[in-house]
Amino acid sequence: MEQSKTRVVIAGGGTSGWLTAFSLVTRLGKVLDITLVESDQIGTVGVGEATIPTMCNFHRLMGIDEREFMAATQATFKLGIQFNNWANKGDSYLHSFGEIGQRSWMAEFHEFWLEAVANGQQDSLEDYCLELKAAKQNKFATKLGNKGLNFAYHLDATAYAAYLRAKAEGAGVIRCEGKISSAAIDSDNGYISQLTLDSGAIVEGDVFIDCTGFRGLLIGEHLGVGYEDWSHWLAADSAIAVQTEATEAPRPYTVATAHKAGWQWRIPLQTRVGNGIVYSSQFLSDDEALTTLTDNLEGKVLTEPRQLKFKTGRRQQAWHKNCIAIGLSSGFLEPLESTSIHLVTTALIRLMKLFPFSGEHELLAERYNRETEKEMETIRDFIILHYHLTTRKDSDFWNYYRTMSVPESLIHRMSIFAENGYAWPDDVGLFRVDSWVQVMMGQGLTPKQYHGAGRLLPPAGLSQQMTTLKNSIDKALTQLPAHAEFIKQYCPAK
Ligand SMILES: Cc1cc2nc3c(=O)[nH]c(=O)nc-3n(C[C@H](O)[C@H](O)[C@H](O)COP(=O)(O)OP(=O)(O)OC[C@H]3O[C@@H](n4cnc5c(N)ncnc54)[C@H](O)[C@@H]3O)c2cc1C
Repeated sequence: MEQSKTRVVIAGGGTSGWLTAFSLVTRLGKVLDITLVESDQIGTVGVGEATIPTMCNFHRLMGIDEREFMAATQATFKLGIQFNNWANKGDSYLHSFGEIGQRSWMAEFHEFWLEAVANGQQDSLEDYCLELKAAKQNKFATKLGNKGLNFAYHLDATAYAAYLRAKAEGAGVIRCEGKISSAAIDSDNGYISQLTLDSGAIVEGDVFIDCTGFRGLLIGEHLGVGYEDWSHWLAADSAIAVQTEATEAPRPYTVATAHKAGWQWRIPLQTRVGNGIVYSSQFLSDDEALTTLTDNLEGKVLTEPRQLKFKTGRRQQAWHKNCIAIGLSSGFLEPLESTSIHLVTTALIRLMKLFPFSGEHELLAERYNRETEKEMETIRDFIILHYHLTTRKDSDFWNYYRTMSVPESLIHRMSIFAENGYAWPDDVGLFRVDSWVQVMMGQGLTPKQYHGAGRLLPPAGLSQQMTTLKNSIDKALTQLPAHAEFIKQYCPAK
């Protein structure tokens, strides 16, 4: 006898709704019946256009063809993020996705480099990273010989949701247009049993996935799960987004330029550029933010400026009863390190591993929530680091961030690095040592001391090893094509 399928109802059809629908139907479609409810009247956020390298792996797991997806979403490659004016006005560093130099099992590369610098070596840490140097020279290839580069994508968010929707519907997901007006909760167990739409239509299900964006319609409004507010650490609560014409070949990196209050993003796609300013209404009015944004745009403006309001923080339980919040309904950490779509993908992997097919699943939910919490806290600390480690004193905004108290976990990390040069990867496998080091040093934190492994070699020997490494990177660079050329032959926009 055929076993009945678990009925999954996804509320919301933004990036997270369609990514959820597509992933579930692709990997579990044989055992799930999936319906997605969305309302054209409400619309989506649709400005998430920069990603991080984990997305490549997620796409591989879901069987997404890179060339096809990139052509359909006007995507370009991303090798990192350039931070301008963060530690101080006029400075700049790049947080690249690449590996820097070579580590030993005992000591990290930056510690060998610090020793070489103490011996008189002139090169910067940036000279030892292929991805970073390629970004600066506008060069790119997915691979060099057998070695893959570490990269992510810039993409058109609306086109991405449409691409996923076509695939999900093609694979059997049922889309239901309409505004959800209420959710029925079973009085025995507190589970959601059905959604009612404005039209009166009813959608029943066993598992409900809340992808309704910031409002968290099911998890927050109907199930009453609270929101942990982190705006005392991450004060941004507003953004204005606008698209402009491209004025140059797309660069393979995102630019994040800090202003007197807030910061501005620049995300190059194949045929246009996404821009926006992120700010806190406590320190900057909407009018001032718009003027700052428009004064700093390159290229003709293509769209009306679009304002977005949000609260940084996380849903106290992303999974409660038979409802799992994915995407903005589960929390938001502002877009500085482009981590929101990443969080959707890790939530999906976690959900697929712990899926509540039947029976009691409170322990699964507990496990899911614990992992989600850890992940959000890690990203929170990493983002706070950019704001807090600054010497800027030119506005109330920077004075606030520079002097505020930060989470204990971050104090611990910064103190050990400042004193001893020791850095370690985070607990959730997202930001590697190189990421922490690039941002801490980029923000001006140079360790007082460091591991003695660099002194195991005589200074001339260390210097020679460093030079050999640098030369091999420079040689590799000469073999990389221009980013725009690579895109033209690999995945031109359709
Ligand atoms: C300023 C800003 C910049 C960002 N930049 C990045 C970035 O560079 N990289 C990145 O990874 N992420 C970024 N993000 C986050 C990214 O945009 C989101 O993670 C992504 O768009 C997913 O949003 P979502 O699908 O959860 O919500 P939404 O896009 O808000 O979608 C919500 C869906 O729910 C539906 N809905 C809501 N209520 C109802 C109802 N009552 N009935 C029926 N349907 C309903 C809506 O119709 C919509 O389909 C950014 C976010 C902001 C605010």
